[in-house]
Amino acid sequence: MAARVVPVEPFDLTVFGATGDLAKRKLLPALYHRMRAGQAPADSRIIGAARSDLNQESFRRMAEAALKEFVPAGDLDQRAVANLLAALDYVQVDAADPAGWPNLAKTLDGSTRVRAFYLSVAPDFFGQICERLQAADCLTPEARLVVEKPLGRDLDSAQSLNRRLASIFDERHVYRIDHYLGKETVQNLMALRFANALFEPLWNARHVDHVQITVAEQVGIGGRGAYYDQNGAMRDMMQNHLLQLLCLTAMEPPAAFEPKAVRDEKLKVLRSLKPIDGLTSVIRGQYRPTATEAGYKEDAGNPDSHTESFVALKAEVANWRWNGTPFYLRTGKRLRARMSEIAVVFKEAPHSIFPAESGWAPPNVLAIRLQPDEGITLSLTIKDPGPGGMRLREAPMDMTFAAAMGAKAGAMPDAYERLVMDVIRGDQTLFMRDDEVEAAWAWMDPVIHAAETASKPPAVYDSYSSGPEDALMLMHQDGRRWRDIEA
Ligand code: NAP
Repeated sequence: MAARVVPVEPFDLTVFGATGDLAKRKLLPALYHRMRAGQAPADSRIIGAARSDLNQESFRRMAEAALKEFVPAGDLDQRAVANLLAALDYVQVDAADPAGWPNLAKTLDGSTRVRAFYLSVAPDFFGQICERLQAADCLTPEARLVVEKPLGRDLDSAQSLNRRLASIFDERHVYRIDHYLGKETVQNLMALRFANALFEPLWNARHVDHVQITVAEQVGIGGRGAYYDQNGAMRDMMQNHLLQLLCLTAMEPPAAFEPKAVRDEKLKVLRSLKPIDGLTSVIRGQYRPTATEAGYKEDAGNPDSHTESFVALKAEVANWRWNGTPFYLRTGKRLRARMSEIAVVFKEAPHSIFPAESGWAPPNVLAIRLQPDEGITLSLTIKDPGPGGMRLREAPMDMTFAAAMGAKAGAMPDAYERLVMDVIRGDQTLFMRDDEVEAAWAWMDPVIHAAETASKPPAVYDSYSSGPEDALMLMHQDGRRWRDIEA
């Protein structure tokens, strides 16, 4: 069954960094899919902006090549491609140079449509680009700004970035993307919790033993070595994606599914996080070389690097709902498989009525899988079929969204499709507010500081493993174990 599509009004979207990786791999394909689905009107305008010496025609050729590379061949339809290309324009600008900006103003001039500026460039340019947009008279009172991580590298820099953006854009018009929040599964976590009466009564420390959030990648740091080595897993992943997933799992039911209510509840979770000891509750690691592949230090081009490619930590949400239920978070590169999930592990049944030979009834686990194959699995203990007496075994109740919706595997819309359309619709629910970003940094800062100033280097772990031994110990010492990292 095809999803119902509500078209948005025609818009003018300027993409800074339109010649870069994110634009080619994600934004142009996302716009293509939304236009093909009839949601983004064909008379919208997408204006690429970057320093490269391109014009409308050569930018269209670049975009066409990007679509061929990043849209599955079966989804490429000539008419839809032609529609997207016809919507494209290009303006050459340099954030560091005032020339070119009047051309952008001229290109946008006269239009009263929704006007959005997507800054798909390094964050060092965010402030400067906003200031140039204002100076060149490119802004309308309702103009929207879209920015993506990294949003600062600590609380101070995040505050100063927020202040700089706020001097030009009202917070109502700033869209801070965390693309994890645009994933269908993550939105389904909210549907699961707040549109069903089944789980919410159990969603608390009385019934939940602990929560595990894993974002595991199989790839190493690849060509991003220098950038990554300045940041590490704590800044690159933990401060944003994993804490956002924790917020959505732990938050109270908002009064309504609308931006202020949802973001207020997420903020309360961040502010309820107990300070943790960066040395005992946090495990950091670096991947080893294999016979054929370089290890972390070599990939980073820094033989003395103490930056972590893996981090695991135990967080506690100090409020009535979660007191006593820890949240274990881990993320890393070059791990056994690419797998992201939130696993809510319930407490064991208080008493077993079955004889010991029936076997152990493991706790129920609700696993919300973000990748691969977005879906939800609830593991239940059932009777092993057959006449062999009452033998218990674990069985999954599995719902892969693509299969449940009758779609082809891999046909779920990409997070950017949803998020870019939300920007145009003016819906900030799935975007981070300034105070949320700052609260996340306020909690992470001391953790990062403790790690960076510790004499202990990150533990080395085997490439394609589950991470360092110490991370296993973080759970074992609490009598728990991590779920397997498997695709
Ligand atoms: P990228 O491939 O290096 O692209 C950077 C873009 O910025 C290019 O289009 C470049 O074009 C433009 N640019 C560079 N200097 C400029 C200047 N002085 N004035 C105007 N434009 C300039 O980077 P990316 O991977 O696309 O990432 C862009 C941003 O998104 C970064 O902040 C990154 O952290 C973030 N991000 C990326 C991803 C991803 O999957 N790639 C995911 C999450 C977040 P010209 O050289 O033609 O000017």
